[in-house]
Amino acid sequence: MQARKNVVADLSTSAGFPVQRLRRLRGSETLRQMVRETRLDSRDFVYPLFVMHGRDVKREIASMPGNYQWSLDLLPAEIEEIAKLGIPAVLLFGLPVAKDEVGSEAYDDHGIVQEAVRVIKKAVPEMLVVTDVCLCEYTSHGHCGVIKNGTVDNDPSLDLLARTALAHARAGADIVAPSDMMDGRVAAIRRVLDESGLAGTPIMAYSAKYASGFYGPFREAAESAPQFGDRRAYQMDPPNVREAIREVELDVLEGADIVMVKPALAYLDVIKEVRQRFDLPVAAYNVSGEFSMVKAAARLGWIDEKRIAQEILTGIKRAGADIIITYHAKDIAKWLQASE
Ligand SMILES: [Zn+2]
Repeated sequence: MQARKNVVADLSTSAGFPVQRLRRLRGSETLRQMVRETRLDSRDFVYPLFVMHGRDVKREIASMPGNYQWSLDLLPAEIEEIAKLGIPAVLLFGLPVAKDEVGSEAYDDHGIVQEAVRVIKKAVPEMLVVTDVCLCEYTSHGHCGVIKNGTVDNDPSLDLLARTALAHARAGADIVAPSDMMDGRVAAIRRVLDESGLAGTPIMAYSAKYASGFYGPFREAAESAPQFGDRRAYQMDPPNVREAIREVELDVLEGADIVMVKPALAYLDVIKEVRQRFDLPVAAYNVSGEFSMVKAAARLGWIDEKRIAQEILTGIKRAGADIIITYHAKDIAKWLQASE
């Protein structure tokens, strides 16, 4: 007893315990809320949507419960619901009517994404429409550029990617988001937009996009799995962070307005590093595999979905993301509204 008292007496002279007791600010939810450093806000969310041809289609993606492929006639009601939840933006991915070697529908003025942009802007003009700019959903081989000698040929792909971004912007897209990871694509897109009177259209660059196993469920959703090989020759190697900084640096030089790290959960250190080194808005993509793991474990009763999903997104925001692209957006927005 005597010995313990002496320890406390010694500590009191070092301005630590018992003078400092961090538990004091954890005593009630009101107090915890007041000193909370990071808050989830639906206004930071971007909700990804998959659009397709046809009528009356609302097809649930098996590995991504609660997420659907939509035909355009059903899209306005969904967009109105998203807007009511306070989610300001959607990110569009398209499923073309047919695929070919050069992904023709990607840059067709009447491609599925271009038509979806028009439908959404007409239904809810204030909804911010971000379009994914890539070729993999539109090419028969499922790669993000054109193929030459069995590999993706960088420079000829740039022209097609720039044409895709231009077609999206002309249709009314508010932001174009290239995800292909070709070198020089931000510069190519910026140049074409500027030359076409669209200097005001921002580019959100998938700057540090890793060749990740977490994309599995998305490939079912977008029907975009590569038909041969993989994407390691253009997407980043997961162990690298210095290389991510170089990617971001180049995208900024080429004219990116927002930079992105994808995936998010296994790359929180990359988000933090990018946040500390650059002053541009940073987006993080909480990808399909991250979402599906939570859903699957929740279905098995192994975790509390509501708590885990919010904890993951809070972590992404705490790491430094300003914008979070997430399939949890609608669920979390509902929970946040209910807790207001
Ligand atoms: Zn792609």
